[in-house]
Order: sequence, then C-alpha cells, then structure tokens
Amino acid sequence: MSKVVIAVDGPAAAGKSTVSKIIAKKLGYTYIDTGAMYRAYTWYVLFKGVDPKNESECVKLIPEVEIELYPDGKVMCSGHDVTRPIREPLVSSNVSYIASYKAIRLALVELQRKMAEKSSVVMDGRDIGTYVLPNADVKIFQIASVEERAKRRYKENMEKGIKCTYEEIVADVQNRDRIDSSRAFAPLKPAEDSVQLDTSNLTIEESVDAILKIIEEKTKK
Ligand code: C5P
Repeated sequence: MSKVVIAVDGPAAAGKSTVSKIIAKKLGYTYIDTGAMYRAYTWYVLFKGVDPKNESECVKLIPEVEIELYPDGKVMCSGHDVTRPIREPLVSSNVSYIASYKAIRLALVELQRKMAEKSSVVMDGRDIGTYVLPNADVKIFQIASVEERAKRRYKENMEKGIKCTYEEIVADVQNRDRIDSSRAFAPLKPAEDSVQLDTSNLTIEESVDAILKIIEEKTKK
C-alpha cells in the first residue's frame, strides 16, 4: 500500500493519543491529534471571553481561529502557543460543548481531511472512522473502563503539573463521553468496520503491539 490511513477513535482518555503517537513514529506516518484542534478552538473562545454554551457567539469566531499542529506536538492558535493551556481543566470541561456545534466541526473537519491528503497518517479523535475519513484503511475503536481512564489521565496531569483531583477527572471523562456520544452531528460511536480494542488491562506496549498487529493484518496485500 502506498498511502495508509489509520483512524483511532474512542472515549475520553482511553490512551488513543499515547498509542497513536508511538504507532505513527514506528511506521513513519504523520500523527494528527484532532482533539487538540477542538481544544485549541475552546481555548480561543475562553480567551475571547465568549460563553462556550453560546453557540452563535462561538461560531462567529470561525474566521479568526487559525489552528496549526506541529510534528513535535506544539499547537498554535491564531498566533498563540496553546500547547499547554489546551490541557487545562477549564478547556477540558468546556470542549465538548464547542465540539457539538456543527459549523465548528465542519470547519475543523475540512482542515483534518486536508492534513490527511498529504501522507500516511494516524489520526485520533471521536468521528474519524465514521465521518472524517470513512475510507480509512484501518479503524480502531479504543476503549477502557472509566476508572482506568481517569487513573491514567490523573497520572498524566500530575506529571505535566496540571492541578486536578481524581474525582474531577472521573466527572470530566463521564461528562465528555455523555455529550460526545449524544450530539446530533458526527457523535462518538464505533464505525461498523472498526476493530474494538479494550486496553483496560493492557500496558501501553501491549496496546501498541495489538494495534500494530491489526494494522499488519488489514494492510497486507
Ligand atoms: O481527544 P481529546 O480528549 O483531547 O478531545 C477533546 C474533546 O474534543 C473530546 O471530548 C470531544 O468533545 C472533542 N473531539 C471531537 N471529535 C474529535 C476529536 C475530539 O468531538 N474528532
């Protein structure tokens, strides 16, 4: 296969970005974190003092929002380095409202599709296999128990120096999953042709190996 497209979807904090990054590096593909794009938009809404629950005001900002993802993980939004602030709890607790607005999704999806045209990619998100790249060669739906996901995200935040409690993380992932799964446009759900992988009892290495096996299987000639 010349150009390979891998879609990794699943609920919040299921470890998608961690394993997707490793897989992209191993295969020499480009990693695209679509969650970072919704987070960057949310950061901009908050930066502008707009209420994230006010759809029409949030949508009005579309022409001002310019998001760039860099290979080293840096995220720029309209001239600001937002790599770190987009991981703050205030962005996490508001991002699912922003991601439920159709006009904003359409703008970001257009960008995501353009990014995937250029090279082989591993793209992670919620709607990659179902909506953004429905013809992806491999579709993974990565899940894990709420407790395990919250534990992992809590540890990650502590390592990054982001202040939060375990209980706040549990509430955040549950709330985001509920909003992401119930939105009208491109909700979180497994694509019919996706392979489901439960990583609750798997280490990062085991998850990576399992996904690499699926990729090998699906892409062999
Ligand atoms: O992947 P991450 O948890 O950083 O994504 C943050 C939020 O962005 C998700 O909870 C979801 O609301 C939104 N999102 C989305 N569609 C994507 C990627 C993320 O709606 N493809």
